Formats: sequence, C-alpha cells, structure tokens
Amino acid sequence: MRVENKSSIVRSYTGIDVFRLAAALLIIAIHTSPLADLSGMGDFVLTRVIARVAVPFFFVTSGFFLISRYGYQTEKLYIFIKKTALIYVAAIALYIPVNLYNGYFEMEDLMPNLIKDIVFDGTLYHLWYLPASIIGGAIAWTLVKRLDYKRAFAAAGVLYLIGLCGDSYYGLIGRLPVCSRFYALVFQVSDYTRNGIFFAPVFFVLGGFIADSKDSGVGDDQDDAVPRRDPAAGYVLPTVVCLGLMLAEGLILHHFQLQRHDSMYLFLPPCVYFLFSMIMQFRGKRRVWLRDVSLIVYIIHPMMIVVIRMFAKVLHLQTLLVDNSVVHFLAVTAASVVFSVAAAALWGRFGRKRSRHIPDTDRAYIEIDLENLEHNVAVLREAMPPKCELMAVVKAEAYGHGMCGIAVHLDKIGVRAYAVATVDEGIRLRRCGVRGEILILGFTAPERAGELRRYDLSQTLIDYAYACRLNEQARGQRHRVKVHVKIDTGMHRLGFDQDFDQEEILGVFAMEHLAVNGIYTHLCVADSLAEADVRFTRQQIADFYAVLRRLKKEGVRIPKIHIQSSYGLLNYPELKCSYVRAGIALYGVLSSPDAQTKLQLDLRPVLSLKAKVVLLRRVPQGESVGYARTFVADRDSVIAILPVGYADGFPRSLSGVGSYVLINGSWAPIVGRICMDQLAVDVTDIADIEIGMTATLIGCDAGGQIAAPDVADDSGSITNELLSRMGSRLARL
Ligand SMILES: *Cc1c(COP(=O)(O)O)cnc(C)c1O
Repeated sequence: MRVENKSSIVRSYTGIDVFRLAAALLIIAIHTSPLADLSGMGDFVLTRVIARVAVPFFFVTSGFFLISRYGYQTEKLYIFIKKTALIYVAAIALYIPVNLYNGYFEMEDLMPNLIKDIVFDGTLYHLWYLPASIIGGAIAWTLVKRLDYKRAFAAAGVLYLIGLCGDSYYGLIGRLPVCSRFYALVFQVSDYTRNGIFFAPVFFVLGGFIADSKDSGVGDDQDDAVPRRDPAAGYVLPTVVCLGLMLAEGLILHHFQLQRHDSMYLFLPPCVYFLFSMIMQFRGKRRVWLRDVSLIVYIIHPMMIVVIRMFAKVLHLQTLLVDNSVVHFLAVTAASVVFSVAAAALWGRFGRKRSRHIPDTDRAYIEIDLENLEHNVAVLREAMPPKCELMAVVKAEAYGHGMCGIAVHLDKIGVRAYAVATVDEGIRLRRCGVRGEILILGFTAPERAGELRRYDLSQTLIDYAYACRLNEQARGQRHRVKVHVKIDTGMHRLGFDQDFDQEEILGVFAMEHLAVNGIYTHLCVADSLAEADVRFTRQQIADFYAVLRRLKKEGVRIPKIHIQSSYGLLNYPELKCSYVRAGIALYGVLSSPDAQTKLQLDLRPVLSLKAKVVLLRRVPQGESVGYARTFVADRDSVIAILPVGYADGFPRSLSGVGSYVLINGSWAPIVGRICMDQLAVDVTDIADIEIGMTATLIGCDAGGQIAAPDVADDSGSITNELLSRMGSRLARL
C-alpha cells in the first residue's frame, strides 16, 4: 500500500496570522484617515465601514482558539483573561504620559470616570479593545458552556442588537422615549455600546463555532485521491456579498445621519464570519511572531502618531508628515511596524527563555513518537471504506502511551471520535480539551447520568435493565443522555442478546431521556484466520446486520454503526460502518508477533521504553546477582543496573527467559530476577559501556530493534496487556 508522508497534516493557520497584521493596519487607518484629503466619502467607506471588520476579526480569532462547546478546561479561560489583563495593565502604564499630556487626570469626577474607562472605554481611545476581550470572552465562554451554540448565538445576538441600536441605529431608535431612557442609562456607564457586553460576545461565539464545526479539522483532507475544490473559494462570494450589503447599510445610515457611532452594523457579523472562514483555509507554517507583531502594532500605533507629530514639529515637516493624510498614514504605519518587529524580535530573544518543565528522564522513561502516530492514523484511514471514521480507542492511558497527550494530538489532526473504558477517563479527556464523540465502552453507574450529560459523553447500553435504570436517572437532565446500544453476537460479555425481545429494544429507542446515537457489536476471534474462526466471525457480522434489518423494518432510524476493532479492520476491511474502533493498531503494533492478517499495513510503533545505566558493577565468577540467586556469573562479569522494574510495567515474567535490552546498538542480556524498581543486565561484552548511557527495553536503537509484540510474547502475554500496564510511574517524552 502506497502511503505518503502525511506529517504535513498538522499545519497552522497562516492565513489568520497574516490577516491579523492586515487588520492592525486597518485600525491604524481608522485612527489616521488616510483618504481624508482625497475624498470624504472614500474616507468614510474605508475607515467607517470596511475597516470595521478588523476588531471583530481579532475577537473571532480569540474565540476560535478559546471558545469550545467542550469548555471544561476552565484554566484556559483564566489564562486568556490573565494574559489579556497583563497586556492591558502594561498598555495603561505605557500611555500614562500621553494621558498626562492630554490633561486626562485633571477631569472632573476622576475616580468614577477612571473606573468606567478601565472597565469599558479604555483609558485611551483604542484600549477599549482589551477590557472588551476579557468581558466578551468570559460572556461567550459561559454562554457556550451553559447552552448549545444555537442558543448561545441567539443570546449574544440579542446583546449585539441592543448594542447596534445604541450605535449605528441610535438616530432611529433613540427617538423612542423608552429606548432613549434605556440608552441614557447605558451611556452613563460606557460611552459607547461597542464594548465587552454588547459588541464582543457574538464574535467570540462565532469563533468557537467555527473551531468546533467540522471543516476546521484537518482530517478532512484525508481524501487526497478525490480532487476537491479549493475550500476557501466557497467563501469568497458570501464575503463579498456581505461586505457589499454592509457598505450599502453604512452609506444609507450615513446619508440619513442616523449613526451615533459607526462600529456596529447588521451585516458585520456575517461578513466577519465568512471572511474568517475563508482566511482560515490558508494553512502553512506557524507564524507566531506575526501574532506578536500585530498585537504590538495595535497597542503602539497611537504612540507612533504622537511620535510622528513631534518629529514633524521638530523638523518642520508638518505639511508633509501630518497634513498630508496619505503620507501621515504611511509614516505611522512604517513607524509602528518597525517598532513592533524590533520589539517582537527582542521579546523572542530575551523574553521567551523561561525553561519549560522537562520530565524526569534521568531514570527510565517512555518515548512517544507522534509522527508515527500521525502516520498510523493516515494509514488506518486509508484502509477504511469511505465515510467510515476512525474512533481512536484511548482507554487505559491510551494503552500506556498517556491518554491526554495522545488524544490532544489526535484532536489536532482532526480525529473526532474516541472510545474509553470508564466515565472518569471520558471526563479526563474532556478536561484536556478533546472535542467530538467520546464513547464509554464499559459500565457506568446510572447515578452518574448527570456527568455523562455535562461532559457530553456517550454511554454503552449493556442490556435492557441497564437502559431502564439509566433512562430513569437521566430524567432530571435538560438534554438527553447519549447512548450506543451494544449487541452481543457471540462474545457473551456486554450487550443485548441478539435474540432480544422486540418490545424491549424498540422501547430503548423510544426512551424519553436517552438519545440512541449508535449501535455496535464486538468480534471475539477477528484476529484469527483459521477457517472455523472466520466462519464464526462471519456469523457474528451477519447476525449484527440482521439485527439492523429487523430494527429498520420496525421503523427505527438506524444510528451510527460499528463493529471492528483493530483486527476487525485488518481481517475484514470491507465492512461498511460509521466507525472503526482502533486501539492497538493505532499505536503501531499488533497483539502478537506472528499475527497473520489479510491487510498488511505499514504501521509504525509509537512507544519506546528506555532507561539510563545508573551503576556498573564488577561481579566475579561464581557470584550471583539479584533475588533468589537465579543468575550466577560463569565468568568475571560487568553488570549494569537499570532503574526500571515491574512496577513500571516491565513484566517480571521476562526474568530468566533470555530477554535482552539494547545499549548503543549492542545486545545485553537481562540477568537474574527483575525487581519491582530495578533490573540487571550483563554488559561484559560491551566495550565502551559507561554510566549514563541509555538502554532501550522496547523500541529502536542504533539499527537494532526490540518490538513490543516480541517482548509481550516472551512474557507470556499480548502487546495490549504489556503496553496498558506501562507507565503509571514513568515520565513520557
Ligand atoms: C478495547 C476495545 C477495542 C479496541 O481494541 P483493539 O484490538 O486494541 O483495537 C475496541 N472495541 C472494544 C469494545 C474494546 O473494548
């Protein structure tokens, strides 16, 4: 099977990074009116209409990275607020001299005005953006978390409409006495309605909506074989149309002089929505520095206006640098960009040097190869029939690989379905920020229905009695609890008997507090190609489809279906399903070393287990090493001690069965009993052995390889058990 290198799958949103700078320049235009000398109307169109997309674009961008339906990582919100607040405090401090010069501190009622400015209007005109980000971000976060997108959008939309009526449409609305009284109150607290309460939330919600919706994932370009239309192209027309409508709206309002202020238009949210959706499609290299530069340009440009004016005054260049609006704009832009690039470069050089937490690798550790994980995802997707999605099985710490680390990476490359064993694993996944479907394969106490709902987890129904209990417990929830029905077709573990009572199963689909989103079964000998086993499996599959047919006949709308785990896919790749629940294959290994499978996929192991040599010890001939003295040196030997043992998941049953580790490409036999926390290897034949060298217990080293399935086999088990027991105590790299 031909597999291209798909490591380019993870690309960043270059389009967004670049447009941020353009947006910052538009804001400079708002504050310098470059076209003022040429045409009053041109100036209005550019700075009061077109450039008004800039600030909302920033809000949508923040929302895109911050807001998610799965806003369980409250820490993310706190970090955003803290960061924005810090920038705000710094910006306030930076502009104190300008405020002093303006006589800001001499105004009447300084204290109440100062508070009002700090909370809403900004202590200098453009700084309102920062408190608006904090307030708008927090409002949107709360709305999306408490309601679904539709309702959150409706709520934020109402706020926006209230703001709109106090902004561009005030000339119309303010004539109604009730309204003018209402807005009089509002304007006592905030000079304008374009603030964190009325203006920002809707754009944050839109940003989150775009991020959570499907085509923001990158997994959707898996189908490279089918030539697809450029996804950005589809957004060009709507963007242009909305921009045109907004322009018309602005011109009409302007003509009738209805605008109290001109930040908000009816067509602004759709316009920014399509614009952002278009720009988001341009992916490429990460340009973090561009983000810093555009932020600094935004903060600093009013300062540069002052600087250019002073400069012009000193050099007597006012006619050119200040009075000519185009040159003035260009001068301010150039000064702001130069300053910002320099500041960002300095910051990059000196500011970001804080050392990150480095996991403890002095002893023993697990190395995770995310590129191989990505490769496996691509290979598995390619092997699946079209329209079938990968459900990544990440139970048991992702088979010892570390659940959060693995799932967060899979989320990034567009995997939108996960399976776990327990409700607590599901909750932890959400708390790491994972989106999409999360199916709990095992039993969950029905009393935890509230948590299933709150974390948007899908629960497996293991039989009818369980379904009734869960339905009962779900009664109190505002939304239905999502479930998948499991059918037992021969494994005889969990699931409804395939000869179920018709009434019962139809009852489940009709249960008021459960939403059946899936139906599945599990194969029990799919790993074997022996004739009897294949026959058994074919029967299981046939029985499952028969169940679906019966349900269909009864008028049940068939939800998502899934049958195969890793071996199911490898040996029965032709099955048409909605999901493949892949566990062990995702991690690039098979359960046993001699597995014969119909499909031979180029899977690559994700996990390596390594340990440092902490001690070298001479053991004279005749002396023993370790518990029970099972190893006795038959020559004068050098023994290396590795600080890893069965408590780290390295099986004790590998003692005395002739297992090896790799050090610098050389094989060193494990000697004596493996202890809870240490083991010993014979390094007598390794000439250049030194303390601190890295030993590989699973994985590759200088050309040699120790494959997990072989290790598992030597220990009398399968790879699944070996890996899933690994690493409760090990750092993961
Ligand atoms: C663990 C599990 C899987 C994943 O199995 P692999 O063989 O690791 O792919 C799939 N389905 C169910 C029900 C499971 O319990």
